[in-house]
Amino acid sequence: MSDAAVLHRFFTDQLGVWPEAKARYDALDNVCTRTVMVDDYPVLLQHNPARAVSTAAKVDSESIRQRKCFLCPDARPPQQTSLSLVDGYDVLVNPFPIFPEHFTIVSHKHEPQSAVDLNVAAELAMRLPGYVVFFNGAKSGASAPDHLHLQAGNEDFLPLTRYSELNPGQVIAADGPTTVYAMNELPMSALHIVTPVLSDYALRWLDMLLPDNADGLPDRDMRNIVFRRGADDNLHILFFPRLAHRPSCYYDKERMFMVSPGAVDMCGVLILPRKDDFDSIERSDIRGIYAEVSYRYCESERFKTLLLS
Ligand SMILES: [Zn+2]
Repeated sequence: MSDAAVLHRFFTDQLGVWPEAKARYDALDNVCTRTVMVDDYPVLLQHNPARAVSTAAKVDSESIRQRKCFLCPDARPPQQTSLSLVDGYDVLVNPFPIFPEHFTIVSHKHEPQSAVDLNVAAELAMRLPGYVVFFNGAKSGASAPDHLHLQAGNEDFLPLTRYSELNPGQVIAADGPTTVYAMNELPMSALHIVTPVLSDYALRWLDMLLPDNADGLPDRDMRNIVFRRGADDNLHILFFPRLAHRPSCYYDKERMFMVSPGAVDMCGVLILPRKDDFDSIERSDIRGIYAEVSYRYCESERFKTLLLS
């Protein structure tokens, strides 16, 4: 049986013994959605009340110190079992789903999100055609930045996966079989890398093309990265360097929207846990949210340096 088939069967088995999780997956069929065109790009709005717990998660270090880690094994619900697909990680069914099949891939160690090995995500993506495997940086939508985890979900759920197959972007650099495309026409500023394997050349872009942290170094907490196996059997990487964890409207008392963009939102599915937000958000608000949280990497000095390397 293929890894993708094993994963699908694990999902079905878990829902068979875990009624609370199954109810939330069933409820996904009835969540309100609508599509808003933003600069010729379709953004799908999903009103998903169950996600409030994640969207509004307090991720400051004091709040994290005071709460019990919900990804450590002793805090998991008794019905939740794990699948072992790769050394050092447990694959879990996510009980607060966005995707029709949504998984959390949790490190055996309680270690910070910054300890990520992107090779693990790339390897899993290549072994799981039909799914995306993605990483949210500690300050880019991760609701448990203190416990390293990846996520996986159905690739066809994200508008940007199909869009990027048809419109890979503008070629800006290449090294052997690896091609780097800029996708600057989008409301969210994305970089698209197509490569047979996660090469050092590809990793350099993912590790360097970021805003500065307090020490003047690339801030690796400020990124979302989505890996998938493309129709050409190459590894396709959608990379979103980030300028802000949350947009200003998250804190705005006058015109507040509860949005906390992670990889899913950057790929064109904006999760809105509150019905009022879903009903009232307008195209200009959405454009503003993406503009505030996306790093305009093309204007950075490091971009020019990487182009020449
Ligand atoms: Zn933990």
